Amino acid sequence: KNQDTKPDISRAKSAELYAKAKTFFPGGVNSPVRAFKSVYGTPLFIQKGDGPYLWDADNNQFIDFCCSWGPLILGHNHPHIREKVTEVMQNGMSFGAPTALENELAELILSNNPFIEKIRFVSSGTEAVMSAIRLARGYTKRDKILKFEGCYHGHVDALLVKAGSGLVTFGETSSAGVPKAFADETIVVSLNDKEAVAKAFEEFKDQIAAIIIEPVPANNGLLLQQPEFLQYLRDICTENGTLLIFDEVISGFRVSFTGAAGHYQIKPDIITYGKIIGGGLPVGAYGASAEIMGNISPEGPVYQAGTLSGNPVAMAAGIAQLSELLKPDFYTELNQKTATFVNDIKQFIADRSYPVQVFQIGSIFWFAFTEQQAIRRADEIDPQSMDKFKLMHQELLNRGVYVGPSGYEVGFVSATHTPAVLDKAKQAILDSLDVVF
Ligand code: PLP
Repeated sequence: KNQDTKPDISRAKSAELYAKAKTFFPGGVNSPVRAFKSVYGTPLFIQKGDGPYLWDADNNQFIDFCCSWGPLILGHNHPHIREKVTEVMQNGMSFGAPTALENELAELILSNNPFIEKIRFVSSGTEAVMSAIRLARGYTKRDKILKFEGCYHGHVDALLVKAGSGLVTFGETSSAGVPKAFADETIVVSLNDKEAVAKAFEEFKDQIAAIIIEPVPANNGLLLQQPEFLQYLRDICTENGTLLIFDEVISGFRVSFTGAAGHYQIKPDIITYGKIIGGGLPVGAYGASAEIMGNISPEGPVYQAGTLSGNPVAMAAGIAQLSELLKPDFYTELNQKTATFVNDIKQFIADRSYPVQVFQIGSIFWFAFTEQQAIRRADEIDPQSMDKFKLMHQELLNRGVYVGPSGYEVGFVSATHTPAVLDKAKQAILDSLDVVF
């Protein structure tokens, strides 16, 4: 070891809150990965966030690279979002009727995105995906969906098959309670495997309603795909009357304002959004051409609704956040400083010959504990390597850096992570790697 381990931070208050939470919630949490099952120690209860920083219940301060799992591209508690939300809240919280704010957010998105013509707001990424799947089935009058091993699309029944995210974290490949009949409608193939996709289309000719993919798979590590593979999916969908769904819940407004569709210049038929679109409040959305969206109720026969859909307070947060993202050079600066941060770390790793890779796209990064230069498929990740992450996670917390509590989860850089903040985080990462190896 090139470095000694740091003494553990105090987690006394978090432990107390967690003990109480366990009496209320299954596993003490309202979403599984928060339970810290694959890292050391009690989960941290958060009391406050500001810019790139988080403070836990014991007053420990961290540089945060989890950023609420992606939504906070402007960091915590951004003043413009807070002001806009506070202003809108003066007029009430929810009406269950249309408001001008929905138009405003839709216009911001549609007038800056050539890939979709109409959009529908929902309240989570899961809801967006669930609705997109129904739309694809309704439009094509087919039932089967093709997905990729390791891509997570929320906790909707038909897609909880060989997904990533919390499921991998818990060593399961699917969930109990998903009817076999639903899973049977889902074809799962490996990422980066054109032959497997072609074979599925041969076997299930004229039955596949949609291919769904995270164009930037970021829930089972960061499994960056080659553009040719995404283009292949586009082409095989077109040839077979199948819709291509890009699940851009993470990549949307993250890798560019127009997400991965814009980054790769590939036009899917339906796009789903979540996370960043709501500025930290619960918003999801799906969009497509006017023709495809014309199938959604009340215009068409595919039913989809929501009491809190287009909620004015959530719309306000989305408007404030997306307006910032449209400012000149926003993505150039964010992506550039992330690249510098990652490249410095890679250089250090190369100098020390540690078996670690850092993959990056835009402001997303992921540490893989392997010698392998490229990882494009879920089965290329060695589960044993997660022991290294576990140790690194603890060392990072003890050095004031917070990353998602699972080695399968990616990190996010926000606009408030200044070069000085990133330098500090980098030092903590390098010291932690020195402890791990
Ligand atoms: N799709 C992708 C690509 C995601 O990353 C997620 C969540 O992480 C979802 C869908 C589900 O979104 P939500 O957690 O908002 O339901």
